[in-house]
Amino acid sequence: MENSADQMVRVRFAPSPTGGLHLGGVRTVLFNYLFAKKYKGQFILRIEDTDQSRFVPGAEQYILDTLAWCGMTPDESPIHGGAYGPYRQNERKPMYKQYANQLIEQGNAYYAFDTAEELDVKRKEIPNFQYNRATRMGMKNSLSLPAAEVTRLLNENIPHVVRINMPDSEELVFEDLIRGEVKFDTSMVDDKVLLKADEMPTYHLAVVVDDFLMKITHAFRGEEWLPSAPVHILVWKNLFGLDKMPQWAHLPLILKPDGNGKLSKRDGDRLGFPVFAMDWKDSNTKETTIGFKERGFLPAAFVNLLAMLGWNDGTDHELFSLDSLIEKFSLDRVHKGGAKFDYEKAKWFNQEWLKQSDNAYLANLVAPYFEAAKIEIHEPSYLVKVIGLVKERCQLLSDFIPQSSFFFAAPTEIDTASILPKWDPAKVIFFTSVMDAYRNQVVTNDATLLETHFKTLATEQGLKPGDLMLPFRIMLVGGKFGPGVFDIVANIETQDAAKRIQYCLDLLSKN
Ligand code: GLU
Repeated sequence: MENSADQMVRVRFAPSPTGGLHLGGVRTVLFNYLFAKKYKGQFILRIEDTDQSRFVPGAEQYILDTLAWCGMTPDESPIHGGAYGPYRQNERKPMYKQYANQLIEQGNAYYAFDTAEELDVKRKEIPNFQYNRATRMGMKNSLSLPAAEVTRLLNENIPHVVRINMPDSEELVFEDLIRGEVKFDTSMVDDKVLLKADEMPTYHLAVVVDDFLMKITHAFRGEEWLPSAPVHILVWKNLFGLDKMPQWAHLPLILKPDGNGKLSKRDGDRLGFPVFAMDWKDSNTKETTIGFKERGFLPAAFVNLLAMLGWNDGTDHELFSLDSLIEKFSLDRVHKGGAKFDYEKAKWFNQEWLKQSDNAYLANLVAPYFEAAKIEIHEPSYLVKVIGLVKERCQLLSDFIPQSSFFFAAPTEIDTASILPKWDPAKVIFFTSVMDAYRNQVVTNDATLLETHFKTLATEQGLKPGDLMLPFRIMLVGGKFGPGVFDIVANIETQDAAKRIQYCLDLLSKN
């Protein structure tokens, strides 16, 4: 599709601020954002907070923070402003009633006066009770009651809601940009409430009115909203005309790792991985749910892995920046079926992005982890250098601590068990001579010179350098890991390396 001069692409992300943002929600943002940017259109954030009972303090700020972290800045939002505001539905309350009235006048909706108690009685009487074409005439509403009675109830301000009048067996058809033609039979759908007793619209009315007033051209949302589509189509048809309706795309679900159903926050808790974008602190329970950000993911990796959950560019290529996604994205390549979430693969994306990222950028992100681990960084440029040496070995930002703490302080736990089986007096003599050379500054802090010195010394003593590398590594870092040993010595410097050798020789002599 092309962006024509008379129709600017306008998409929206319309979350309800009820808690942390699930990765499926962020993927919905991403696909909206990519589409908007690709067609030089606008991306709108609209807060759908008409259900005040579900309002959670802090949730809107969390959504804004998540978008900012991912680098997806809305063109219009409650804080960015715009010509179609307000962007919080509860601030738009006075706008909706006229549309509910219009639907009533046209016969597409009706007043319902049933109290909560009366509805409860019905639910008990009739299993799986639905307020619909089969039951509505037995209820208290403007279709079942005489006109005079309806007028009296309205004049007396008896609390009432407005319900959609779902037609009998009408076929509703729409073209979903991912699924193709989708058909609904209206007799399967109940008479949803459109306007509540306090004149606040429900989601079903507000979403249609706002998409119309905000001139939304394309609406992409999760597949879980597909069952609501007939209600929305009918409201569109009766209020504004189907030709004005945005083009819909219902995005496939993100599935549990085993493919069995939708991935939930509980699956993350159970299997030990994040499902929310960022840490979410529940203000009631005070419980914090871990997010990708705090688990140590880079925003570029998070965006990349989300894009690949349900989309590809038609090649084997998997690494995409946000800019390259904007260039490559197309709805035709969004899969119909759900996408299985694989945490190992998610970490792989992060590792790839760590490798590509600038060391100074990573140093800023890693610094708080060092602070939390109480490792002092005296020289920021030293941290930048260390990051360059170890980043290939890290999958998460938190991995930088175990992978590099020995650059800042000598290890205290030494895996001597891995040295002892091949330890002998010749090696004691060798490492003592390395230690002495380091102490006496016989060799400078340069990885190449250090390596030559080490190997020459070994050969002179009739030893194979290859047999000496593992014990040396363990002396320097405590275990069998880390970057090149001579890079380590060059950075911690020979005086410190000499102390580490001494410490280990003492430990080994006790065995
Ligand atoms: N408010 C709905 C949600 O919380 C939005 C669904 C839609 O985009 O129409 O996801």
